[in-house]
Amino acid sequence: MIIYGELFSVLTANANGVQVKNSQDRLDEILDKLRQSEFRITPQRIAILKAFLYSDEHPSVERVYEQVRINFPTTSLATVYKTVTLLKELGEILEISFADSGNRYDGNKPYPHPHLICTQCKSIIDPDVNQLDHLTADVAETTGYKIVSHQIEFFGICPTCQKN
Ligand SMILES: [Zn+2]
Ligand SMILES: [Zn+2]
Repeated sequence: MIIYGELFSVLTANANGVQVKNSQDRLDEILDKLRQSEFRITPQRIAILKAFLYSDEHPSVERVYEQVRINFPTTSLATVYKTVTLLKELGEILEISFADSGNRYDGNKPYPHPHLICTQCKSIIDPDVNQLDHLTADVAETTGYKIVSHQIEFFGICPTCQKN
């Protein structure tokens, strides 16, 4: 129950909108870790990190690539991929994978949380789910498992797409 308790106290704190660290502190910490793994920090790479860490739009690698190239035209797609791989190794980004389209990333909330995905425009948001800890406790209780993570995805048509 220890793992379960620790994980879900973190999840609950974040679900309630309590920011454990501010964005700049988090970026600085990640930069420190990247320096230790001998990742060369350049302004372009900082721009890539910020694009992932500060976005709540769950961008794809291609989206970040396009965005960063506006100010850093020499950025390569390979550099963006490499940054994602490192962030994944550090546990600082959550990968949302799809069978029929490319992966999307949440670098803003790197811990497991539910997603709501529009099947038409592919927008992804983080819905507020109130009963998540109850649901988890329920699953643990009825199966005897220690729950360590979850992946919950809702699919639908967003209000904007419903109007079109
Ligand atoms: Zn939509
Ligand atoms: Zn998310």
